[in-house]
Amino acid sequence: MGEIGKITGKRPPLGAHTSIAGGVFTAIRQGVEIEADVVQIFSKNQRQWLGKPYSEEELETYFKEREETGIHPVVIHDSYLINLASPKKDILEKSIQAFADELQRGITLKIPYVLTHPGSHLGEGESFGIKQIGESLKQCWEMAGDDNIMIILETTAGQGTNLGYTFEQIRDMIDSSGIEPHVGVCIDTCHIFAAGYDIRSKEAWEQTLDRFDEVIGLSKLKLFHLNDSRHELGSRKDRHARIGEGFIGKEGFETLLNNSRVNHLPMILEIPGGLEAYREDLILLRTFRNAIDKS
Ligand code: ZN
Ligand code: MN
Ligand code: MN
Repeated sequence: MGEIGKITGKRPPLGAHTSIAGGVFTAIRQGVEIEADVVQIFSKNQRQWLGKPYSEEELETYFKEREETGIHPVVIHDSYLINLASPKKDILEKSIQAFADELQRGITLKIPYVLTHPGSHLGEGESFGIKQIGESLKQCWEMAGDDNIMIILETTAGQGTNLGYTFEQIRDMIDSSGIEPHVGVCIDTCHIFAAGYDIRSKEAWEQTLDRFDEVIGLSKLKLFHLNDSRHELGSRKDRHARIGEGFIGKEGFETLLNNSRVNHLPMILEIPGGLEAYREDLILLRTFRNAIDKS
């Protein structure tokens, strides 16, 4: 784990969030279409609490095509219904069940990371929410944890009562979970920028990564979501833009792909515009990556 760059032989492994409509193997077929190295998927319909188990046939096709194409599904993005910070008992119970189910699906599909938006406190207060997330993660891990899987907390933009918009909050969640070795972090470039972390230049990235290292530790960073931002630094608004077309801009991404501290980590697009946009922006990102290979 954390060795996905070595598995794919690409630095960094680049990819996008692809669809599983019709079966989990669809994600791999889409990965081929957009020429991705890696993909992120939902493990099931993301608007349902629990999905039905995969059929034997579906799994067989998935593993066969994964082997043939060399496209690595590296991360499951959890359902949007899940709120591991919910102050409502019934929703919290369902969320814990559902996230444990996501972990189990990750194990079944041999996907190393299962990612969650940490949660929203819904007015109950930030320290309540952070503590609740820690407890929920521990429960999920006790239900379904396994050495082949890691929980990934995604940094958020801090919209509404969403938690995880500072590195300190993420650290406190990990600390209060009691399962620190099993929890990693994903930096979403749009989210941290909207949350107030500047990443528009080389100097800005260095400062932001230094801060991450001080507070959480860079070894905890496992992947990136690459999205430009439709809103300005510190806007606290979560609206993704295509690479180079938002307020972060090309230089921010070019710098990231050239940063040897982190450019071995998988980088996943979640931009608007469908497969065509993915394909084009992966080509753009590869021009940045090729600059590294040549240097
Ligand atoms: Zn997300
Ligand atoms: Mn994201
Ligand atoms: Mn987002």
